[in-house]
Amino acid sequence: MLAALVVAANFEGGSVGKVEQVAANHLRCAVRGQADANQRNRQANWYFFRIDGLTREQVRIDFTDLVGEYNFKPGSHAVTAGTRPVYSYDRKTWRHFADDQVSWDERATMLTVRFRPESGQVWIAHTQPYLRADLKRLVELRHRDLRVTTIARSAHGREIPLLTITDAAVADEDKRSIWVMARQHAWETGTSYVADGLVRFLLSDAESARQMRKGNVFRVIPIFDADGAAEGAVRFNANGYDNNRNWDTADAQRMPEIFAVRRAVEQAGRMDLFLALHNTESVDYVDGPVDEVAAELVRALRAETDFLDAASPRAVARRGAIDAGRMTVNQYLYYTHSVHAYLMELRVERHPTLGRPRTAGDFSAFGGGLARSLAAAVSTTGGRR
Ligand SMILES: [Zn+2]
Repeated sequence: MLAALVVAANFEGGSVGKVEQVAANHLRCAVRGQADANQRNRQANWYFFRIDGLTREQVRIDFTDLVGEYNFKPGSHAVTAGTRPVYSYDRKTWRHFADDQVSWDERATMLTVRFRPESGQVWIAHTQPYLRADLKRLVELRHRDLRVTTIARSAHGREIPLLTITDAAVADEDKRSIWVMARQHAWETGTSYVADGLVRFLLSDAESARQMRKGNVFRVIPIFDADGAAEGAVRFNANGYDNNRNWDTADAQRMPEIFAVRRAVEQAGRMDLFLALHNTESVDYVDGPVDEVAAELVRALRAETDFLDAASPRAVARRGAIDAGRMTVNQYLYYTHSVHAYLMELRVERHPTLGRPRTAGDFSAFGGGLARSLAAAVSTTGGRR
């Protein structure tokens, strides 16, 4: 008889596929993954589950069923030898598994972690979760210069908050307008920590933050895919549509999030800079129109944050190279409204100069540097438009 290890993911953001107990302290956990509405582009890099019944004996967990496809190219997998899952015994303090606790089987396309539990119960995830309670703490900050509205409702009826931050005593007509959108893809929790850190910095008493609120209107969406974040999805909305494609074709029925946010963005008037935040496994970059705004944004990011990519800014795809229904938000805003619209990717695997993966604290601190970088970048745009 095996002493049972019990795996559960029936909580907010939870996700796990088929679970097998191979031996007393050996579990095989398939990653559930998510495919789009046409059962294509399966991506399997979100897992968040709890294990009960642990003893102090070393435990082995194999992560399987990792292969899917990306942009219709089969065979890709986001979980690789460089993946370092996070774990927590209290869902407050999260740590990455260390290099010597993780191994990779290339032939089986399987990641394994081995560790000696410090408690009978542990939570494991791909990256540190950022949940509704985290967002609630942010939107409930009391500040004269913060206004919270609902910009959209998700397919499953969840509210998607928009935080508007600006000096309430200065007329908006005299300010530049900056949009920051995080978490179009549910697994990319690091982007919500960046948005959270950005908001907290902007609302701080730092003199530079006061000046930024005087000169700019910041509009921030910390969780775009509210359903995916709550339901443990990976990349597609509840109807199976990629929230960072479809910006040229979105309709209110299948893609209510894109449809409502796109309308709000288009009706908001002046826009000096738009930035969509994303996570990748192993690379940082900024993509968009290569101009003086992009140059200043990247220069400032290198000075103010741990952003690391020699090749940025990388040029936005040519209009003619983008198939119908495949436009990202920054491509759409640039090609249809001539906005300085960018996408920024931040890696979750080991950061070469940090010598470890970015933590939630690193992403949050990045947000403060991002605020300074955005303010620097829009200062290169010419006055009112
Ligand atoms: Zn993304």
